Amino acid sequence: MRLVFGPMPYSEKAMRCVICKQGRTQPGVTTVTLERDGLVLVVREVPAQVCTNCNEAYLDENTTKHVLNTAEQMIRCGTQVDVRRYVPA
Ligand SMILES: [Zn+2]
Repeated sequence: MRLVFGPMPYSEKAMRCVICKQGRTQPGVTTVTLERDGLVLVVREVPAQVCTNCNEAYLDENTTKHVLNTAEQMIRCGTQVDVRRYVPA
């Protein structure tokens, strides 16, 4: 999936998918793969709004921050590859 950074129009309600412009989103989970500075972080079961048509996933701001914070911890610990399950902050 694409990890969408920056301000996203986000609400608990379904929104129209901006990628395929066909589907609508519904609450679900997704797998986030983050590659940065030579490290790879895979986070499973991340809560997201998922498009029912193309499966594009949209993370809210707090969830995105939490994933990025996890990546920062990896950098500090010298970890290069990690696969983990999402744990809410
Ligand atoms: Zn879509």
